[in-house]
Amino acid sequence: MVLSNCKFCNKVFNKTSSDECPACIKKRNDALSKIDDYSFGKNEVNIGELAKHTKIDQEYIKQLLCEGKIKSIRKLIAVCEMCEQFTYVSTVNFLCSNCVTELKSVKSNKDDGLMPKSTEKPKFVSTKKQLRMRTKMDDL
Ligand SMILES: [Zn+2]
Ligand SMILES: [Zn+2]
Repeated sequence: MVLSNCKFCNKVFNKTSSDECPACIKKRNDALSKIDDYSFGKNEVNIGELAKHTKIDQEYIKQLLCEGKIKSIRKLIAVCEMCEQFTYVSTVNFLCSNCVTELKSVKSNKDDGLMPKSTEKPKFVSTKKQLRMRTKMDDL
């Protein structure tokens, strides 16, 4: 028997194959079936209406979306987490397409600057290690 803390409610439970306790698993499955019922066949889902209809907290819906548990929502309408516009947002990071584009361009600029450094370093370390190994072998 392995006791573990549930990663959601932190309650101690008898760990089986999951990181969450039976109560949290049930809560999630209940929420998922309600969300699926509501979203099924809809082209787009407004998170505010979804929360109102299912009586599930918007934050919890977002958490489930982040975990990739909700497959029934094709297009999500919610408040963008960056520009706070109520529009179509990604179901992964809850950003509108404008903000996603902006983030990508910022990120790729950063990556370009960091690339040479991060590739040089490991090479240097391994060469040093190899040198040390060779010296040791010579000593023997
Ligand atoms: Zn739990
Ligand atoms: Zn935005």
